[in-house]
Amino acid sequence: MSHPIIEFSQTPSEHHVQELFQQAKAIQARAYAPYSHFLVGAAILSPSGNIYVGCNVENAAYPVGNCAEASAIAAMIAGGEKEILALVTICDSAEVGTCCGGCRQRVREFAKSDTAIYACGPGGIRAIFTMEQLLPTSFGPDNLVGFVS
Ligand SMILES: [Zn+2]
Repeated sequence: MSHPIIEFSQTPSEHHVQELFQQAKAIQARAYAPYSHFLVGAAILSPSGNIYVGCNVENAAYPVGNCAEASAIAAMIAGGEKEILALVTICDSAEVGTCCGGCRQRVREFAKSDTAIYACGPGGIRAIFTMEQLLPTSFGPDNLVGFVS
């Protein structure tokens, strides 16, 4: 698949991208998905260079399950950081698998419009997107300026 050339203001190094992929793949194997059997892993790179990972966690009460991205964000917040420099997700779908709509908004909370989001399959990167591409003209914290104290 070809994808557009994207300019990122904070481009992660190739080393970091490979590390994110490896960690996302490792955590994908730990996903708890007894119902869908659709295992997802996510890895976040913070500006400090730390990596936070998460996997999907399903529940017998289906709607309360967690996406991998939400789990990784929770780990990042628990780790004391609040900025996503890059995000890698991995799943085994036949086509490119990107963040679900809900997760695009979750990621948007901690990302910039040009934050790099890598959609990966078992063999590596399938597509690269910016936050803006996945959630155009989005609503975010800056929209609340003046409305919260
Ligand atoms: Zn999601």
